[in-house]
Amino acid sequence: MSSTCFITQEATSEILLRVTNVCAECYCDIHAGDTIHYDMQSYRYLCDCCQEKLCAQMNEECEIVEEEPPSLFC
Ligand SMILES: [Zn+2]
Repeated sequence: MSSTCFITQEATSEILLRVTNVCAECYCDIHAGDTIHYDMQSYRYLCDCCQEKLCAQMNEECEIVEEEPPSLFC
């Protein structure tokens, strides 16, 4: 699912070194070449899995709609 709430990009060694090398939500490792998503609401990087989950919880204004407790399972 694509969304204007996120910037999808490929993880570069620059990002991994300077910003983060784990997903901000599930803390799984991000490796160079992985697809990652920059969350423009929270200024953090998310893995594919978490971005999809978060995206499903958002409305068109990119606000998170809490319909069910967010799951930590990724
Ligand atoms: Zn994640």
